[in-house]
Amino acid sequence: MIIVFKPDATEQHIDHVADRLRELGLKSQLSRGESRTILGVIGDERLLEHQPLSVFPGVESVTPILAPWKLAGREFQPYDTVITVDGIPIGGPRVIVMAGPCAVEKREVTAGIAHEVKAAGAAILRGGAYKPRTSPYSFQGLGREGLDFLAEAKKQTGLPVVSEILDPRDTDVFLEKADIIQIGARNMQNFELLKEVGAYDKPVLLKRGLSATIKEWLLSAEYIMSRGNRHVMLCERGIRTFETQYRNVLDLSAVPTLKALSHLPVIVDPSHATGQWRLVAPMAKAAVAAGADGLLIEVHSNPECALCDGEESIKPHRFAALMEDLKNVAQAVGRTL
Ligand code: PEP
Ligand code: MN
Repeated sequence: MIIVFKPDATEQHIDHVADRLRELGLKSQLSRGESRTILGVIGDERLLEHQPLSVFPGVESVTPILAPWKLAGREFQPYDTVITVDGIPIGGPRVIVMAGPCAVEKREVTAGIAHEVKAAGAAILRGGAYKPRTSPYSFQGLGREGLDFLAEAKKQTGLPVVSEILDPRDTDVFLEKADIIQIGARNMQNFELLKEVGAYDKPVLLKRGLSATIKEWLLSAEYIMSRGNRHVMLCERGIRTFETQYRNVLDLSAVPTLKALSHLPVIVDPSHATGQWRLVAPMAKAAVAAGADGLLIEVHSNPECALCDGEESIKPHRFAALMEDLKNVAQAVGRTL
């Protein structure tokens, strides 16, 4: 951390700050320029998280050097985290595609979609058993039965399962039936839920909040990791902007930004990011080109009758064609699919 003093700062002002740093167990180095005095803080500046040095008399500016996310940051771990789910490495050279319906519906529909996405090359099956719907009158998901249908689809296809948790009281059933626990956009800052999933080893897919900054998102990952669970992947799913033409705006800059700031795998969800099935394939390709480690894509055999998000779900034959295209994109950026 660099503390710059105002031109009229006195010796007492400088000593006052230096004394406070010493009390907190930090060392400091003074540098006197012609017009400015600067104090460089030596030690873990996170000790200053609750110490507003900018309000000390004589201080002009305070610039942190270390990121506030400790465990999620590249400063802590320079190499990429690879999370292995049923032998499938997420965060390595292979781009991992997770696909399936928005919501788990009938047993046969879920299993049918699972077989189709598997045949097209998906590595993981997605499906919501508990749905966080905007309206309480919309389909809320099948609950536990939905998780059972996913488990059955897994038994038939071998595909591991990712599904969203809404309530910490359901943790046990998710630990048993899901291979990856999804924290949805609406719960990115549900800190009690983050702490709950942080208490286990089960991989977590943490979606970006509807209007969350990268900093807020990484600090949410930090909530999970600081409880002990290091198996966190970040999922960009579009953010709210002034644009109303699509459901959200896919922030693709987040992908290389996160890869630079953090060692965690980065997944992109082009379905919720766009809300329109026609936009899913181009944005999925763009995401892989931008360096995403994986994709989360909604696929439905009959989007017209889907109980949730039919408008953004692609049909299995289009998903299969997209997977072929993605192979070429992945290869062009030095990855496999
Ligand atoms: C989902 O993936 O089913 C979902 C609800 O997504 P999001 O939390 O990104 O809106
Ligand atoms: Mn959906």
